[in-house]
Amino acid sequence: MAYLHQIDSERCKGCGLCVAVCPKNVLELTKELNAKGYFPAYQARPEDCIYCAICCVMCPDVAISIVEIAEDKAAS
Ligand code: SF4
Ligand code: SF4
Repeated sequence: MAYLHQIDSERCKGCGLCVAVCPKNVLELTKELNAKGYFPAYQARPEDCIYCAICCVMCPDVAISIVEIAEDKAAS
């Protein structure tokens, strides 16, 4: 199985906690506002993600999730 890292940009409040805590410096805040008027986080360097889930634990709004996906879907 492979993993997929997802950020719900409409749930995110742009606090930047996940950006600060990521040990691999994967995350950044976008420059585009979401519907609530925040700059949500996104994976700027997804290839560096080690799926440690520290960002998921840190997020106060539970906006980040890591899900298992089948390998064939990961490749496409
Ligand atoms: S899962 Fe770990 S490496 Fe990946 S973005 Fe979150 S904190 Fe960074
Ligand atoms: S910790 Fe959560 S709410 Fe804060 S910027 Fe990251 S995803 Fe958004």
